[in-house]
Amino acid sequence: MPAKKKGQKQQAEFNEEDELAFLEAAAQANQTRKQAAATVEEETKKDEGLVLTNLPEKPSVAFPNNTYPEKEIQEYNGHNGYRTTSEELKQIERLEYMEKVVPDLREGAEVHRRVRQWAMANVIKPGVNLFDMCAQIEEAVRRLTGYQPITRGLASLNNCAAHSTPNHNDGRVLQPDDVMKIDFGVNINGNIIDSAFTVCFDPKFDPLLQSARDATNTGIKTAGIDVRLCDIGDAINEVFDAASYEINGKTYQVKPVSNLSGHLMAPYTIHAGKSIPICRGGSGEKMAEGELYACETFGTTGKGRVHSLGDNLSHYMVNPTPPVPRTPQQRKLLKTLQENFSTLAFCPRFIDYIGEKKYQLNLRQLCECHSVVEYPSLSDVKGSHVAQFEHSFILLPTHKEVLSRGDDY
Ligand code: MN
Repeated sequence: MPAKKKGQKQQAEFNEEDELAFLEAAAQANQTRKQAAATVEEETKKDEGLVLTNLPEKPSVAFPNNTYPEKEIQEYNGHNGYRTTSEELKQIERLEYMEKVVPDLREGAEVHRRVRQWAMANVIKPGVNLFDMCAQIEEAVRRLTGYQPITRGLASLNNCAAHSTPNHNDGRVLQPDDVMKIDFGVNINGNIIDSAFTVCFDPKFDPLLQSARDATNTGIKTAGIDVRLCDIGDAINEVFDAASYEINGKTYQVKPVSNLSGHLMAPYTIHAGKSIPICRGGSGEKMAEGELYACETFGTTGKGRVHSLGDNLSHYMVNPTPPVPRTPQQRKLLKTLQENFSTLAFCPRFIDYIGEKKYQLNLRQLCECHSVVEYPSLSDVKGSHVAQFEHSFILLPTHKEVLSRGDDY
């Protein structure tokens, strides 16, 4: 969930040819990986110590030869159907690319569904230690993807909307009256599924959750080839306008968090430029065929804007074009981070997982020289509650596919 930040540099634009070559290579690598994984992986489990009760099997076992399910197909709304006018060659390339990428996305989506449903049944309960909960969810993703580099698992509580995941010393335990956003990504060869949901145990928050669920679904329904991003923001805002609820005689109006948004994704890049606004006044830029988006909306009972409270710094990404760090130690850490996480989001828990020790100072210095970008956790005002739902969908030539759709949300 990219936060609009003053002066923040946009990600480098992708050159389409480079991207296609890159995807060809990724698809090739996938084949090799799958063949190798079948034999080696079971013997090389890295984290034997972590017991994951009732963990479902890898989707690649249940769906051999890329037969992953299509979970939801949506027709385009009227005018924006199949492209017949744009340059045909480019389109054919685009289709070939999609043929290679869509199975990876469906596999990632199947992993996401399995892990979140497993976590809801086995891990996420009042009393669970948040650090342990995230570690288990992440390990489940590792095992179900055959140890692909994972993206962050976020657990943001109550007025905190995003970018929060517990560090070692956190110690927080999930409370029965918490509103928790669970947001994690699954990466298959750099093809990312980003999806999030909100958990509460007290039904008084159900209307808040429902508003964000409806808003996200409305955003996806409105999306399409050549649809202006601002029109999606308008439609989402309208859902929140109509959402209010009462607790003990007090009425809470739900607002969208105006400085968070959905986002275009590209290989290994969670935010590839365009944003899907969740309030009015967005950009007039249009969606295009073949694009993969994460539509995520945040409904809040607070002010409708989030900012860093300086309370949690746990979320980092390597700069895609990092300046060369000053010292050999910093250069070594940067290389390790690139090799393990590419340009995907990571947190200190991941660095521990790969066996690095005493990296804190070097990590801070990598942030200071902008080789690594830090994303502090973002919160609305104290006492408020924020709910989030997020799905990944792709704009195929004749229809939208809502990849991460499940029976749960
Ligand atoms: Mn996202």
